[in-house]
Amino acid sequence: MLVDSHCHIDFPELVGDFAGLLSRARDAGVGHLLCVSVNLSDFPAMLALAGRSERISASVGVHPNTALEDGEEPSVETLADLAANRKVVAIGETGLDYYRDDCDPDIQRERFTRHIRAALHVGKPLIIHTRSAAQDTIDVMREQDARTVGGVMHCFAEDWATAKAALDEGFYISFSGIVTFKSAGALREVARKVPMDRILVETDSPYLAPVPLRGKTNEPAYVRHTAECLAKLRQVELGYLSDRTTENFFRLFDSAIRPTS
Ligand SMILES: [Zn+2]
Ligand SMILES: [Zn+2]
Repeated sequence: MLVDSHCHIDFPELVGDFAGLLSRARDAGVGHLLCVSVNLSDFPAMLALAGRSERISASVGVHPNTALEDGEEPSVETLADLAANRKVVAIGETGLDYYRDDCDPDIQRERFTRHIRAALHVGKPLIIHTRSAAQDTIDVMREQDARTVGGVMHCFAEDWATAKAALDEGFYISFSGIVTFKSAGALREVARKVPMDRILVETDSPYLAPVPLRGKTNEPAYVRHTAECLAKLRQVELGYLSDRTTENFFRLFDSAIRPTS
């Protein structure tokens, strides 16, 4: 069984076909999905959607690129309160993204810090997004003692030094469809080196559909293509890679409910 450790099935591109995408995921061997929050205004609807299946868990958080005017700025208390829901297995996605300028870097760092504090408060792991901000991301993780709760560097596309620094903080590394892209040779080298007990797979759907579906709307079933790419890269069977990454997922997100069938 595979797990899609990071998807946005509440986004407009996917929400209309909830039953279809769940059944296609199941057919592809994807037994569980983690639906990730990007702002507080859409959180109640996202949580309600996750509540429709035991095979879906949720996170709570505000994406680093969510603009200040796009909803409530999360306090430690608000995040901790919302994270008390039994469906919520993680805090995020949070982190730093200096590639886009929707949100000032100082505000991003403060927001990231509050997410880490909330995670420490409730004892749930972090889902971290980092883009064009690797050193600052690692610095904030260290300063705030993120390793106490741990978490995942999602949709990883940074270099080995960054992967190593995150691994040293006890974090997992999650690979998305990016690792299948023709141009991603350097990232595949990183993926070859991450210890097998620290790898997760994800779609980040509706974005970043893997090869051979690149350009299409991505969905949880397609995580299988990313897993196949990683299995080939590491010269292991797909079943082995699936089992190991699924074990990793349920070890990290230990309040997620493991399906029995
Ligand atoms: Zn992200
Ligand atoms: Zn995401």
